[in-house]
Amino acid sequence: NKMVYYFGKTKTEGKGKSKTLIGGKGLNLAEMTSIGLPVPPGFTITTEVCDAYYKAGKQLPSGLMEEVDKAIATMEKELSKKFGDESNPLLVSVRSGAAVSMPGMMNTILNLGLNDVSTAGLAKATKNERFAYDAYRRLINMFGDVVMGMDHHQFEKAFDKIKKKYKVSEDTDVPAEGLKQLCDEYKDVYKQHTGEEFPQDPVKQLELAVKAVFESWNTSRAVRYREIEGIRGLLGTAVNVQSMVYGNMGDDCGTGVAFTRNPNTGENKFFGEFLVNAQGEDVVAGIRTPEQVADMPKWNRAIYKELLEVKKTLETHYAEMQDIEFTIERGTLFMLQTRTGKRTGIAAVKIACDMVKEKLIDKKAAVMRVPANDLTQLLLPSFKPTARNAADVLCRGINASPGAAVGKLAFSAEEARERTDAGEKVILVRRETSPEDVDGMNAAVGILTSTGGATSHAAVVARGWGKCCVAGAGDVEIDEKGRKIKVNGKTLGVNDVISLDGTTGEVMLGEVETQEPKLSGDFAQLMKWADEFRTLAVRTNADSPADSKRARDFGAEGIGLCRTEHMFFEPDRIIHMRSMILAQDEKDRRAALKKLLPFQRKDFEGIFKAMDGLPVTVRLLDPPLHEFLPHEAAAQKDMATELGVKPAEIKKRSEALHESNPMLGHRGCRLSITYPEILEMQVRAIVEAAINCAGRKIKAMPEIMIPLVGTAAELKLLRGKVEETIASTIEAKKFSGKLDISIGTMIEIPRACLTADDVAQYADFFSFGTNDLTQMTFGYSRDDVGTFLPDYLHQDILLVDPFQSLDQTGVGQLVEMGVQKGRSTKKDLKVGICGEHGGEPSSVEFCHRAGLNYVSCSPFRVPIARLAAAQAAL
Ligand code: PEP
Ligand code: MG
Repeated sequence: NKMVYYFGKTKTEGKGKSKTLIGGKGLNLAEMTSIGLPVPPGFTITTEVCDAYYKAGKQLPSGLMEEVDKAIATMEKELSKKFGDESNPLLVSVRSGAAVSMPGMMNTILNLGLNDVSTAGLAKATKNERFAYDAYRRLINMFGDVVMGMDHHQFEKAFDKIKKKYKVSEDTDVPAEGLKQLCDEYKDVYKQHTGEEFPQDPVKQLELAVKAVFESWNTSRAVRYREIEGIRGLLGTAVNVQSMVYGNMGDDCGTGVAFTRNPNTGENKFFGEFLVNAQGEDVVAGIRTPEQVADMPKWNRAIYKELLEVKKTLETHYAEMQDIEFTIERGTLFMLQTRTGKRTGIAAVKIACDMVKEKLIDKKAAVMRVPANDLTQLLLPSFKPTARNAADVLCRGINASPGAAVGKLAFSAEEARERTDAGEKVILVRRETSPEDVDGMNAAVGILTSTGGATSHAAVVARGWGKCCVAGAGDVEIDEKGRKIKVNGKTLGVNDVISLDGTTGEVMLGEVETQEPKLSGDFAQLMKWADEFRTLAVRTNADSPADSKRARDFGAEGIGLCRTEHMFFEPDRIIHMRSMILAQDEKDRRAALKKLLPFQRKDFEGIFKAMDGLPVTVRLLDPPLHEFLPHEAAAQKDMATELGVKPAEIKKRSEALHESNPMLGHRGCRLSITYPEILEMQVRAIVEAAINCAGRKIKAMPEIMIPLVGTAAELKLLRGKVEETIASTIEAKKFSGKLDISIGTMIEIPRACLTADDVAQYADFFSFGTNDLTQMTFGYSRDDVGTFLPDYLHQDILLVDPFQSLDQTGVGQLVEMGVQKGRSTKKDLKVGICGEHGGEPSSVEFCHRAGLNYVSCSPFRVPIARLAAAQAAL
């Protein structure tokens, strides 16, 4: 296979190729070249070569360097420069570039091609000796670091010595002569630590650099990043070799990073930062604090105008917001990179809606474009205005990624991870973050840095995750060792709490109260479009009027699961529940249930009212009874006093109810088989609530759901009891109106799927309880999976947590079988899902394909499910 794809004036071989082959960066360089943007020429080595490299035990495939040589020759011809030349040398950058962007995770080498001879050549060609030797010492340093695995600090001593010699404190004040000496010192340091001379042959340099980029694909930080981001199934990284242009040759040079629209808010305004007389890395690393691109006209109006043209060209070509890197070399603009810009969920929604208005995309594209999970960010909390007005603002930084975060201070990525795992909420505080910090950044509730701008690593990564981040808060003095910060006269340590506002950039002392988000404008528009395309209905899992109302505001079309047990835990009811459990016979049990009935009825009335005119699926009692009893001696004693019985009696009953595997024990419909009076009370409460609602012109549409059915016989028996109770309640209430109550079952035991045709005879609807179905299909206890699941994920035995994302290969087959068999008995059987998967985009997509009628999920996930359902339908 072809291993090298050239881009430049001569030809653009990568145009129209796939990202999987030449990586995102390589493809975009080819595309930019082909639409006439000023891109320095170069070539891309494919991801297949990376794969081959690893398969051959870390050997570059034969023939590769011949192809590379040819590409270099073409570059030399285009630029009239020569690799390693003594008068006008060609210099290149070597960068990674996988199919999916992994910002800062892999290796880059700049200024490659410099050696003792060509550095003198560069000095001649640029008439700038200082510049040439500065580039050379950077190369030796970077090469040692990246290719040979040296420690960056090993070079520092040499630099300090030179600075002392010239009596200067800043790197930039060392004269050319000093840098020349420094290069010799660096070569010595290099030799001392690697045992080899710094390679003088540019082609050898290139070969080693290419290998180093391939190696960086599998560093632990890159592997971890892919894990966190769920990036799987890629061959490896491509390598981009591109001729260097310099932003650090003087004050008519510069470099910058920008987004064609604001990545935080989505506003259609060029947004970015640049530095005069600097190299690209200086902006990204956040070492100097950059200027706003909006202020560029003050420096160079022509370049600013040219950039605006580039924005237009790119957005027209890609119909997408772009994240670009550019360099100005002696007044000439060069584009070094473009990619789809990472953005917040808020920005994603606004950009999608704006681009429809601008006729760049249609509404289908808009719906497809917003990652459903990113809507979480629109549903994020913010600070209560009153609370924030009263808050003690410590300082301000850059509002790098929106949201509100409250936590204690953690000073390293490791610490952030450990304390989070131990249940604390922490904010990771760093001078600047480096790619090694990803795990800690992921663990922390928020990130605070003291240097860097909105395009620094911390900002880009945090935004991708929708994690609150304030960057470049210069007033924060960090004492990493002492685990303290000093900010405007205050000293704070690991146990102090701060509040970060990622939307304004403020850092506040103590815990500032947060509030729930409000939805409006573009969000509503996007949801409306999503609703036009989706065929799946979206319901919610809710068991209180407040949750029901919130979910309805989010667009829920009914309740798919109302778990009645939650209602029994409230203090005024638990006592009756417990006396029901303690009861010795049916008569006593009925007496206790009678006391519970009014509570249940009232709860249902509240929920029916909140869901006026929409279906509400009420599930009958599900958990094992022992869950309602206290287990500790002290609590048992309190309960005994309250109920007026002996503590021993409670202990005895509690022990009698003990089960080895309660999740497989006396629960679900099994309870109603043993104690039909519980079912009767619940059904009566539902029917009476519906009748009472009817009297108040509220349209209650209850559906009664029987959990944990494994045999048709269970459902047959219980359905009969439900029907009898409905009839007797209506009669007792002398209700003459219309009350249509359907009776269905949860399908959450594998046997119910296997025999769904039988089960369907007695069901008006099915609802897949994929939590239990996953538990029983895998044989993993829902409650204990945390003990081994991390190992499974780490060793790639499982790719995702099956309790979060439906296992389509295994559990999915049972779902499909359940649907198909159920509908073979009842053609129009209504089928839904109410396990946690109902709000997870890839599972929603599966449910669409499997032909379900609706998904049901927690209120906050309702918008996500609506969007995911639309995306599944498109
Ligand atoms: C399920 O098992 O998927 C379900 C929704 O019920 P629960 O989580 O209450 O067992
Ligand atoms: Mg269940």
